[in-house]
Amino acid sequence: MSQGLNFSLTDEQEAFRGSVRQFVEDKVAPRAAEVDETDEFPWDLDELFVKNGFTGVSYPEEFGGYGGGALELALLIEEVSRWSAGIALVPAVNKLGAIPVLLAGTDEQKREVCEGISTGAHRMSYCLTEPSSGSDAGAMKSKAVKDGDDWILSGTKRFITNAGASDLYTYFAVSDPDAEKGRNITCFLVSKDMKGFEIGKKEDKMGIRGSPTREVILNDVRVPAENVVGEVNQGFPIAMRTLDFSRPSVAAQALGIAQGAFDFAVDYVKERQQFGKPIAAFQGMQFMFADMAMKIETARLAVYQAATAIDNSNWDLKPDPRVSYLAAIAKCYASDIAMSVTTDCVQALGGYGYVKEYPVERLMRDAKITQIYEGTNQIQRMVIARSIFGGR
Ligand SMILES: Cc1cc2nc3c(=O)[nH]c(=O)nc-3n(C[C@H](O)[C@H](O)[C@H](O)COP(=O)(O)OP(=O)(O)OC[C@H]3O[C@@H](n4cnc5c(N)ncnc54)[C@H](O)[C@@H]3O)c2cc1C
Repeated sequence: MSQGLNFSLTDEQEAFRGSVRQFVEDKVAPRAAEVDETDEFPWDLDELFVKNGFTGVSYPEEFGGYGGGALELALLIEEVSRWSAGIALVPAVNKLGAIPVLLAGTDEQKREVCEGISTGAHRMSYCLTEPSSGSDAGAMKSKAVKDGDDWILSGTKRFITNAGASDLYTYFAVSDPDAEKGRNITCFLVSKDMKGFEIGKKEDKMGIRGSPTREVILNDVRVPAENVVGEVNQGFPIAMRTLDFSRPSVAAQALGIAQGAFDFAVDYVKERQQFGKPIAAFQGMQFMFADMAMKIETARLAVYQAATAIDNSNWDLKPDPRVSYLAAIAKCYASDIAMSVTTDCVQALGGYGYVKEYPVERLMRDAKITQIYEGTNQIQRMVIARSIFGGR
C-alpha cells in the first residue's frame, strides 16, 4: 500500500505554532489596532520577539541562530499576521535583509548577521527598489565606485521596509557601469553608523502600519571591501535568488491575514442575528465561507510546499527553478486569496466590517501590499510562465 504524502506538521512544529499563537493572543492582538492607528514601530513587541527567541527562528545554529527553517519561519509569520501583518514584518524583514548574506556571504558575515538578529543586536532591511526602478530592479542607479580597498556608495532606495528601525542594510549598487545589465551590480552590507548614511521620508501607507517604509539615502558612504556580500558584480543574481527565498514569507503573511479575517468573521456570523436567526444560517453566507475555506486551505498547501522546497535546497546561488516556481505560485496565490477573503469578510460583517471597531477592515488594508511587494503579482505570473515556457 502506498504511504502517500505526509501533509502534517511534526509534533514539534505544532507545539511551536501553539506557543506563537499564545504569544500573539496575549501580546500582539491587544496592540494591533493601536499600532495601526499610531503607525509607530512597536519596539516593546520587537523586544518580546527577541526575548521569546522568535527573532532567531530559521537562522542556522552553526552561525549563532536558533535553528528551524523556512517552514518554521512561515508558521511564525502566519500566526502573527492573523492579528497584525505590520508586526509580522519584524521577523520577515530581518530575514529578507539577511538572505543575501546567507546565500553568498562569508562565514564571518553570516555569524554577525545570524547571531546579531537572533540576540536582537541587529535588525536588517533589504535595499533594492529605487524611485525609478521597481519591477525592473536591474535598472537601478545607485553607484559603487572603487577607491583603494574601499567602495564609495551613493544613491537613493525607496520603499525600504523597517528603514530607520534597522541598523544593518543589504544594499545593491551598480559597480561596473560598462558591464551588461544584470552582471554589473554588487551587494554591500551597510551600517546606519557609516558616515553619509541617511534615512529619508516616511511613507503614509494604507496598511502594514507600524512597520516604517522609508527612503535610504547614501551620500558617498565609504564601505570597506570586507562588507561586499558575495562576489563583485554578482549582486543581481543574489538579489533575485533572495526574493525566491523570501517570497514564501510574504505568502505566509498573506495566509495569516486571510485566516485571521476568516476566524473573526466565522465567530461574528454565528452571533449576529437578522430575520430572527444567526446570519450564519443563510445559505448565501455559508457558500461564501465555503469558498473562503477552499482558498485558505489551498493557499496553506502552496505556502508550506514552497517553504519546504527552500528547506530542501542548497543555500547557494545555483539556480533552482523549482524554488522560484513554487515560491512565485505561493506568493501570488496566497496574496490574491488574502485580498479576496478579507474583502468577503468585510462583506460578511456588513457595515460593521467597514469600521475600525473590528479588525477585518485592517486586515483587508494589510492584504493589499502582499500583492505588490517582493515582486508584483504580474511579475510572479511572469516567473511562473518562465518556468513553464522557458526564457527570461
Ligand atoms: C510598503 C512597501 C514596502 C516595500 N518594501 C521594500 C523593501 O523592503 N525593499 C525593497 O527593495 N523594495 C520594497 N518595496 C518595493 C516593491 O517591491 C515595489 O514597489 C514593487 O516591486 C513594484 O515596483 P514599483 O512600485 O516601482 O512599480 P512598477 O514596477 O512601476 O509597476 C507598476 C505596475 O506595472 C506593472 N508592471 C511592471 N512591469 C510589468 C511587466 N513587465 N509586465 C506586466 N506588468 C508590469 C506592475 O505589476 C504594477 O502593476 C516595497 C514597496 C512597498 C509599497
